[in-house]
Amino acid sequence: MDANQYIDEIIQDVLTKYPWQKEFNQAALEVLESMRLVIERYPKYAEHRILERLIVPDRVVVFRVPWQDDHGGYQVNRGFRVQFSNALGPYKGGLRLHPTVNLSVLKFLGFEQIFKNSLTGLALGGAKGGSDFDPKGKSDDEVMRFCQAFMNELFHYIGPDTDVPAGDIGVGVREIGYLLGQYKMLTRIYAGGVLTGKSIHWGGSLIRTEATGYGLVYFVDEMLRIRDDEIREKQVLVSGSGNVAQYAIDKVNHFGGIPISCSDSSGTVIDLDGIRGEKFDFLLDLKNVRRGRIAEYAERFRTATFYPGKRPWGLAPAKIALPCATQNELDLDDATALVENGCMCVAEGANMPTTPEAVAYLQGHGVLFGPGKASNAGGVATSGLEMSQNSLRLSWTREEVDEKLRGIMRSIHKRCRDAAEEFGTPDNYVNGANIAGFLRVAKAMDDQGLV
Ligand code: GLU
Repeated sequence: MDANQYIDEIIQDVLTKYPWQKEFNQAALEVLESMRLVIERYPKYAEHRILERLIVPDRVVVFRVPWQDDHGGYQVNRGFRVQFSNALGPYKGGLRLHPTVNLSVLKFLGFEQIFKNSLTGLALGGAKGGSDFDPKGKSDDEVMRFCQAFMNELFHYIGPDTDVPAGDIGVGVREIGYLLGQYKMLTRIYAGGVLTGKSIHWGGSLIRTEATGYGLVYFVDEMLRIRDDEIREKQVLVSGSGNVAQYAIDKVNHFGGIPISCSDSSGTVIDLDGIRGEKFDFLLDLKNVRRGRIAEYAERFRTATFYPGKRPWGLAPAKIALPCATQNELDLDDATALVENGCMCVAEGANMPTTPEAVAYLQGHGVLFGPGKASNAGGVATSGLEMSQNSLRLSWTREEVDEKLRGIMRSIHKRCRDAAEEFGTPDNYVNGANIAGFLRVAKAMDDQGLV
């Protein structure tokens, strides 16, 4: 078996089958590249067609979401759930509400989720879903009616032991509440474990809201330790201003680092004095309660400057960069600017925010690069902890959950490093994450036979 030729054939097949699914193909190719090393050592996985089976979702559900706006107008959106793999446990992964959502985006996210969830060491399969509904500018009532309409179809396919959705871009505690309410009405079952990211007042887990951002910074801490370094007193560029960015900023402050930026689709705020204290509270209120634009931060605080239409990467020097907004938001030009400005660590808070060219450039210039499927796995890991608490019908304390989250991020980091080392590419977290994530799923698939 020539491993390279075998992988080349699969890549060719992926590229010719759905050439328009750009995001999915990008995610699949990255994993397949890492698999060259694995197939050489485990030809059995080629004979058993594990890769060919893994790149096809178990199933994809596409449906219509009809809902009524505040003026009585009829509206229609597209709804999706991509159930990718349940080799390790029930399908698990978030729901994204954003106008850019389409099948390619959700297939890429669902595919990544398989490996990410595997890396957590928990019993979680991989899935993703969502809609092209745009929550921006919508009233609370409109969001509620949309969520109810979305659940009217989704409820057929989910359950605590079947498929457990959660949040992603555009879906937080408010949306999860409306979704669970409608699930309850449709099924007459109070199945708390059917969704994660619930309010802590009725079945959610402490630290779940903070988990992706906190976990990301725990992962960065582990990466820096390898080089006998630390986050303390380092400038940190963060993109985004949603859930992941907010709690990455919070945790960077806990570690004594200086988070100097945040952004939204309108532009970037740079605050060299650090986003902390009163300014951090303002950011939370602006984005979570008032749902306003990021420029307001710079209008309110004199230490900050707003750069309309710009991304953070070239705007100020920083040792660490944390892309926490969305896919492909850090390209080759951005990577070049980061390296020129002395950046030594990039870790992904969002899913696939760094383009393949930018990843290669960063790795080629000695920058520690943490891929999202490892570095942002703290969110779904804490969803796993929420499921455990729901099953046990008890709640752990903040400290207990935080301690478990930190332990999980440590072991994900170790799994990545060990696999990268074992397969001959030390320091390459991309290979490490793909290989360690894959091996656990492949073993389960093989044990479970040709299904
Ligand atoms: N959407 C998050 C992710 O990308 C969390 C998913 C979950 O908690 O199920 O991993």
